[in-house]
Amino acid sequence: MKGLVLDAKWDPRPDYKVSDWEKETGKAISGNNVWRYPKLEVREWPDPELGPHDVLLEVQACGVCGSDMHFYETDEDGYILYPGLTKFPTILGHEFSSKVVEVGPEVTMLKVGDYVTTEEMIWCGRCTPCRNGYPNHCENLEEIGFTIPGAFAKYIAVDEKFCWKVDGILERHGLEKGVELAALTEPTTVAYNGIFERGGGIRPGHYAAVFGTGPIGLAAVGLLEAAGAGRIVAFEVSPERRELAKLVGADYVYDPREVAPHEVMMALSKGEGFNMMVEAAGAPQLTVPEMEKSLAINGKIVQIGRAAQRVPMFLEVLQVRRSQVFGAQGHSGHETFPNVIRMVASGRLDLSPIITARYKLDDTVEAIAKATERKDGKIIVRPQW
Ligand SMILES: [Zn+2]
Ligand SMILES: [Zn+2]
Repeated sequence: MKGLVLDAKWDPRPDYKVSDWEKETGKAISGNNVWRYPKLEVREWPDPELGPHDVLLEVQACGVCGSDMHFYETDEDGYILYPGLTKFPTILGHEFSSKVVEVGPEVTMLKVGDYVTTEEMIWCGRCTPCRNGYPNHCENLEEIGFTIPGAFAKYIAVDEKFCWKVDGILERHGLEKGVELAALTEPTTVAYNGIFERGGGIRPGHYAAVFGTGPIGLAAVGLLEAAGAGRIVAFEVSPERRELAKLVGADYVYDPREVAPHEVMMALSKGEGFNMMVEAAGAPQLTVPEMEKSLAINGKIVQIGRAAQRVPMFLEVLQVRRSQVFGAQGHSGHETFPNVIRMVASGRLDLSPIITARYKLDDTVEAIAKATERKDGKIIVRPQW
């Protein structure tokens, strides 16, 4: 079958100490220190093999993620920008919806013809964090489209336990729109996990701010709107993305280079401060200092964007404002997938305006190049077109 394959050279930086585990497994814990000269191309790849608990999925729609861009872009030494767990060559793509076309002998929950979306995090269920109920912190994690073959392909095989049926979404929106909305589930669950599971959510009426409205930030805006936020403000440098933020529920949008965000938030809240602030820009060194000056009493900061950056923080505000900072990663467990699917199926969450471009599988490299312009909302690849 065909797939978008990323190959790169295992060439650890001279100052990076490769661990025994990395040598044994061929996985880099810190991809940007190991993988050099990435090459992306749509080419032939072996057909997936079905394990006893696996379903064979025919991919219907797969979104381009910020991390996919960070495999395409390199630093001045030719290393990929993506800092996380990776093993190459593999097929990229992890935000997808698909149709079950074959089931392994031990599959019990799914049947041929079902439409599903799939978790990206392949948690083991056996390590201590998994057994304690923290699958997002699995010690034996594999990641679809990062360490094992992903969904920029005609087919993918995955254990049925990572799949969630999306028939509710298709019933409401029809097949064509439905499979695209279902492919948005994965990035939306990342925002949901940050805001509701980790951050404990908002009360209707709360003031909420989202810093950075790439796809995760746009999903955060949509979720906060659906949850009844009293006022939503988005800070985003791209004018195109500011417009998208308005379409999914932001009441106010600003270029954070043109205003002092803390002044904006204090003015909009008449001095009371904001209750929920979401960091989805991946620039906490710039955004958190603004947030800490705008915390409502009992206000919350949720860190979802990734950045290898230290942030000086004035901890006294956490005392004086009885406020808190939450770190969030991942999307598995905690009812997250089923609840996001319900919100989309009920029409309470409609992120369809953020889909700004569609590509065929053969043109996936172009789709990723387009994403690096950082103007689009979500770019979708349709492998069956
Ligand atoms: Zn992603
Ligand atoms: Zn585990």
